[in-house]
This record gives sequence, structure tokens and C-alpha cells, in this order.
Amino acid sequence: MTTVNIKISNSSERELFYQQQNNEVSLFEYAYSHQLPVLIKGPTGCGKTRFITHMAQKLNKPLYTVACHDDLTAGDLVGRHLIGPNGTYWQDGPLTKAVREGGICYLDEVVEARKDTTVVLHPLADDRRVLPLERTGELIEAAPGFMLVVSYNPGYQNLLKGMKPSTRQRFVALRFDYPSPEIEQNIIIEESGVEPHIAFKLVELAQALRKLEQSDLDEVASTRLLIYAAKMMSSGMNPMEVCRCCLAEPLTDDPDTIKALMDVASIYF
Ligand code: ADP
Repeated sequence: MTTVNIKISNSSERELFYQQQNNEVSLFEYAYSHQLPVLIKGPTGCGKTRFITHMAQKLNKPLYTVACHDDLTAGDLVGRHLIGPNGTYWQDGPLTKAVREGGICYLDEVVEARKDTTVVLHPLADDRRVLPLERTGELIEAAPGFMLVVSYNPGYQNLLKGMKPSTRQRFVALRFDYPSPEIEQNIIIEESGVEPHIAFKLVELAQALRKLEQSDLDEVASTRLLIYAAKMMSSGMNPMEVCRCCLAEPLTDDPDTIKALMDVASIYF
């Protein structure tokens, strides 16, 4: 059995702060009202998961989040037979639970999942809205509020792992990116409690780092990393040390690139 990293949230949890970037909230609501599945693409740490959590809270829906990886099988999503004291019994997986309860199933980094998972996603992601459970012979009709949401980071994709056009074409697709400077500053302040002038400098630094020649970097500094840095700085840690451990080291292993990133940081801190 493979490890399935599932997070189940319900609407009674503390409402999380979400700063809208464009019109994604109303787009999502329209898709939901028409029972259409949603695909969100965007770089790591730009707010995709936070957005879905916010929408689940706003729409008052249970949320099943599955972090996809290359061992994840269709069985991990739909469920499996287990052996108990009274013999074998069937246990629903996160996708099946969301389908039965009319919840949201969010598959994070869906392109990482094994190809056999698309077999179960297809009939759910078009107007059939059914989930066939091969192993029990059941054909479950999705409850009215059920919504399938998937995300991936286009930057990680390779030809083998790209999403098949026949799968992509079943989704309403939203593109996310790092927020504009004003919005990002606000998010950092809300999430870390840091002084506005530090948040301002961190955003300026991130803007500069994101513009750097990226040949040695797979990824640029994310909003998530800026929040880490803001938290560390607001608790009194030396700002340049923070830049090293929150912005330079997480982005690269190459000493020359780290030095280049730290040179830019020294302009701001
Ligand atoms: P992703 O799923 O895109 O990798 P997350 O949703 O986990 O990224 O975002 C990383 C962190 O950045 C969140 O935990 C949150 O603190 C913050 N964040 C990013 N965008 C927003 C936003 N629009 N509103 C509130 N917080 C945000």
C-alpha cells in the first residue's frame, strides 16, 4: 500500500485569511454553480492551496486534499478492501468520500499521480459525474455539491508528465501567479504580523530576485518563503541570516548562485 497524504478539512475550522488576486473567487463560484471541475495552474507557494481552502470554507463544503505523487494509484483515491476482525470490508478513499458527501476533492500536483488515476477522473470530470468502483461493482453518482479540483505547477512539467489534452479539456482552468507587490505585501503582513516596512522591503527583494537571470534556479522566491522570512525577521533574527536561510538556501545548492542572491539581498537589508 502506498502512502496517501490526505488532509480532511471541514468548515468548522478557523476561517483562513485569503487575499483575492483577481476575480478567482467569483470564477470558482460560477464553476461550482454549474458543477464544473476546476484546474489551477501556478508556481509553488503562490496561494493555490490557500485559495481552495478558502473556497471550501466560503461554500461550506468538506474538503479532501490529496498530495499526489508518483506512487499514487487509483485505489488510493477511490478506496480498497481491508481486512478486519470480521473479514474483509470496503473502505472509501478520499475521492469516493467527497463524491458521496458532495464535498470538494482537491488533487494537488495531479500530474505526479500515476496515469491509471485519470481513468477514474474522466467520468467524474464531465457531465456524467459518476465514479465507477471497479472492485465493488458500484457506480456512484456524484452528490450535487461534489466538485473536483486539481492543480499543478507548469514549471515542473516534462513531456512524460504533462496532463493529457483529453484530461485538461474537461476542466475550467485558472492561472495563478505570484501576487502584485501591494497584494503580496498585505499577505505577508497578515500572515506573519511583521512591520509593514519590512514586508515592503521583502517584496522589493523578491521582485528583484524574480527578475534575475534564472539559468541556475529552478524556481523563484515564493510568497510562502517571503512569509517564512517575515516571521523570522519579526522575531528579531538578523535580516541577512534570514535572507540566507529563507530565500537563498531553499532555492539553490550552488554556492555561486547563493552568493549572487545574497549580493542582491544586501541591497535591501
Ligand atoms: P501553493 O498551494 O500554491 O503551493 P499555498 O496556497 O500553500 O501555495 O501558499 C503558501 C502560503 O502563502 C500560504 O500558506 C499562505 O500563507 C500564503 N498565501 C499565498 N497567497 C495567498 C493569498 N492570496 N491570501 C492569503 N495567503 C496567501
